[in-house]
Amino acid sequence: MKIGILSRDPELYSTRRLYEAAIIRGHQARIIDPLRCYMTIASERPTIHYKGDELCGFDAIIPRIGASITFYGTAVVRQFEMMNVYSVNESVAISRSRDKLRSLQLLSREGIGLPVTGFAHSTQYTQDLIARVGGAPLVVKLLEGTQGIGVVLTETRKAAESVIEAFKGLKAQILVQEFIQEAHGADIRCLVVGGKVVAAMKRQGAEGEFRSNIHRGGKASTVRLTPAERVTAVKAARIMGLNVAGVDILQSDRGPIVMEVNSSPGLEGIETITGKDVADAIIHFIEKHTRPGKTKTRGR
Ligand code: ADP
Ligand code: GLU
Repeated sequence: MKIGILSRDPELYSTRRLYEAAIIRGHQARIIDPLRCYMTIASERPTIHYKGDELCGFDAIIPRIGASITFYGTAVVRQFEMMNVYSVNESVAISRSRDKLRSLQLLSREGIGLPVTGFAHSTQYTQDLIARVGGAPLVVKLLEGTQGIGVVLTETRKAAESVIEAFKGLKAQILVQEFIQEAHGADIRCLVVGGKVVAAMKRQGAEGEFRSNIHRGGKASTVRLTPAERVTAVKAARIMGLNVAGVDILQSDRGPIVMEVNSSPGLEGIETITGKDVADAIIHFIEKHTRPGKTKTRGR
């Protein structure tokens, strides 16, 4: 098969690993920078061009679209889909997963464990909103944040009100969320490929830090999932319509709680910690599922 890896950086661990895994399994692989693609949209003849050449003959693509290029990146993925190229994660599912609010709404409908979350346009009802998510301490979260930036723990109602007011004053969209204290600054990253958890790790936030992000100093270790955690991760990926997903779960007193579902999960940490070959699992999945024109909007 001819597999395109859509990634801005050929030197990134994840990009390199996917490339190697494709070659080892006997495929042709090419790393394509989505921002250097350009496209023409014409009836019955959609095309993509790259550095002056038309990109053709691809059977499948693996989108690795960073949060900062979601709009253009998903347009490129969509264009491949229009050309009947199979995308491991479809463009709609990537866009869906990038919107924290939309993701939580879709997951809530299917009964997935979630932190109680509030969202409002007006600040007129802030006090009531705080009360409805259970009062302080609570987490205020920028809708657009990644890597734990823009996630604030407010210990008191007064602090929560000030932070909400400050964010709103900057015209930022924010979520107000129940604080899952009993997670003790840890979470579990589950790597789901094709409806199975192929690897999982626990991340523990640095001393005195409630955020477990590695970028914020968190440390990873191996973990054994409970059946409920496994089921939750697989179900969350399915609801989002993602074949490859990094599902972040907090362990709470009422069972697994989904924090977020990532459509381009990094492979370095999880492969290193678990010794699992996640890249190979992704290529294997492509071999089994690639059919021309098979990418269709899924997810619920
Ligand atoms: P990002 O997408 O920027 O990583 P998250 O919403 O995943 O933001 O939050 C970052 C981290 O902060 C999570 O991995 C988790 O450890 C912690 N965290 C976020 N929200 C909560 C919450 N409601 N209760 C407890 N911990 C939380
Ligand atoms: N299939 C979902 C629905 O009909 C898609 C929703 C979405 O991604 O926003 O609700």
